[in-house]
Amino acid sequence: MKSKILVTGGLGFIGSHTVVALIEQGYEVVIIDNLSNSSINVLGGITKITQVTPEFENIDLRNKEEVLGFFEKHTNIAGVIHFAASKAVGESVENPLLYYENNLATLIYLLQRLSEKEDANFIFSSSCTVYGQADTLPISESAPVKKAESPYGNTKQIGEEIIKDTCKVHPNLKAISLRYFNPIGAHPSAEIGELPIGTPQNLVPFITQTAIGKREQLSVFGNDYPTNDGTCIRDYIHVMDLARAHVVALKRLMNNEAESNYDVFNLGTGKGNSVLEVIQSFERTTGKKLSYKIAERREGDITAAYADTIKANSVLGWRSEKDLDEALESAWKWEKKVTDSEKN
Ligand code: NAD
Repeated sequence: MKSKILVTGGLGFIGSHTVVALIEQGYEVVIIDNLSNSSINVLGGITKITQVTPEFENIDLRNKEEVLGFFEKHTNIAGVIHFAASKAVGESVENPLLYYENNLATLIYLLQRLSEKEDANFIFSSSCTVYGQADTLPISESAPVKKAESPYGNTKQIGEEIIKDTCKVHPNLKAISLRYFNPIGAHPSAEIGELPIGTPQNLVPFITQTAIGKREQLSVFGNDYPTNDGTCIRDYIHVMDLARAHVVALKRLMNNEAESNYDVFNLGTGKGNSVLEVIQSFERTTGKKLSYKIAERREGDITAAYADTIKANSVLGWRSEKDLDEALESAWKWEKKVTDSEKN
């Protein structure tokens, strides 16, 4: 029997691009998603790109019985990439229990099952939020984890600790936490991309929605930060590069190449761009003029974060290949496609 990779949250933004990367590398994929922040149409997008329709199970991972039932049905899972989580920082402040349950109970149920297997390989979606405002830039994996600013950020810190503690006593379980910087962009075909529900929390969907006329104006939160142009700096990584990194990390675990059964890697480009630089890049690559205003600083925003990529480069042999312009161009192509399909 061919071994399969389980991708939880595989119809979401990063998950769907990773499913495509896995299929293109010859893996068989089964997706679990409860469609709480995605659409079943994403499956069609994946099929159009790869000519393969992965198996799909509409399961809510908070339902422990269903999780167990899944593993009884699928006995040949060789690896799990766990994207499923809630990710809106503001919502996590208003509804912390939803976040602790959805981001941690689901992780525990998966690990309980995987730790019983003879050989289990697990990739976890973590975030650079674990570093808060780091004392030095670029941020390496050895930078201290700072007290979380939100329940969402806390779930990533606790999630990493849960995995680390479990790996200590279950050598059969091999795991990697990937700390993403700021994922943006879409598949170049525009068949899949980011589908924010309601008001986007992140800069790039806000930019594309403003450019297409769904929003009147973009707010730049603060221009008095101690940076070159006063606006915040982030490390924007193309989702296609990010997806590829998951396949590389999973292979490392499955081929038993890792020295330790738990490790952490940053996934970023290593380059920081300010909000104004992103706006300029968008205008340059798309030829669209953006209406924006400078607004008050937003609570909880840090000044600057970008990744030290040495560990991912040297240990995983992975580096980002696509630049900011390419990412913004793909995000714009995707926005136009989504808006067209909404009109029809
Ligand atoms: P997303 O919301 O697009 O995808 C998550 C998917 O998981 C969705 O399809 C949703 O329906 C599904 N899901 C949520 N709860 C579920 C449950 N209980 N059972 C089954 N399915 C469930 O998010 P994304 O941007 O693709 O992020 C993926 C992961 O990466 C998340 O863990 C997120 O916290 C993490 N992350 C994202 C970013 C980012 O900026 N996008 C940055 C750092 C880390």
